Amino acid sequence: MNNVKPNVFVSACLEFESCRFDGTMISDDVVRRMKDVVNFIRVCPELSIGLTAPREAVRLVKRKGEHQKLLGSVHGVDYTEKMENFTSKYLEKLLSRDIDGFLLKAKSPTCGIGDVKVYQDIGKAQLDSARHDGMFGTAIKERFPDHPIETERRISNYNIRESFFTHVFTMASFREMKHDFSYKKFVEFHTKNKYLFMSYNQAILKDLGQILANHEKLSHEEVLQKYETQLRKLLHGESSKKRRINTLTHIYGYFKKDLTTEEKEYYFNALDDYIDYRIPYSNVLYILKGFAVRFQEEYLLQQTVFQPFPKELLVVLDSGNKI
Ligand code: SF4
Repeated sequence: MNNVKPNVFVSACLEFESCRFDGTMISDDVVRRMKDVVNFIRVCPELSIGLTAPREAVRLVKRKGEHQKLLGSVHGVDYTEKMENFTSKYLEKLLSRDIDGFLLKAKSPTCGIGDVKVYQDIGKAQLDSARHDGMFGTAIKERFPDHPIETERRISNYNIRESFFTHVFTMASFREMKHDFSYKKFVEFHTKNKYLFMSYNQAILKDLGQILANHEKLSHEEVLQKYETQLRKLLHGESSKKRRINTLTHIYGYFKKDLTTEEKEYYFNALDDYIDYRIPYSNVLYILKGFAVRFQEEYLLQQTVFQPFPKELLVVLDSGNKI
């Protein structure tokens, strides 16, 4: 497992402060669980520009012929410049904090991403049916384009949550290896993540191996930079079912000669159940890990694919999609 504590930025109203416009805090089970296994860095941008809780709500407004603004929803006070100034200074500081991921409050005109309404004016209808980014959310996406950025709403979906945690914990583990660099640790990082990476993208896994081999005799800083670029590309992709089945097949290959007929049948029934959406991927991995324990396959036992993030974060809750 990647057992480093990642640094995650969180909107302060998620489980930390009663800083919302109505003076409340959002209670969120996943964020609560994360408190034990990540270092949270939090801020409420609206309180940081001098607003109080409770306060009038703010809105994103795009009047005809004007730039988009952040306005008070009752009196139309313009907070745009204050928010721009705060955001630019705060994110500049955040760049030096080794942030591994962002968890933002959904639908907020400040923190939200991809789900924020923009209005034609105060008291008027929405500009369009599209969903936009909040002011602070936009700036985060611009300054940290390669980082995992999610909202508490999106990670209520099992698959999105699993990808987010995998991304955050893998990058934290990479960051730690980079800070305390040796080629031995670099090789160990690559080795223990081999099957996890395979489940995302076999072609990029191959590229990562080539970069690590360093046939061009680059400096270790250049190698790390190239590796990180490819790693981020890999983790931004999706671990599709086809790729996961390919990974399971590779791992199964370690035991196929040693298993009994009954064990093989049990495994292939589980694989069929996974293919037909009756059980999740993790169930099949559990079976393979059981074989790895029995046959003491040390190479496999160290693989992060069996547990890419702490089990405290494993919750089989889902907002509706297939797991
Ligand atoms: S969404 Fe952002 S700005 Fe709004 S209360 Fe939460 S932390 Fe503050």
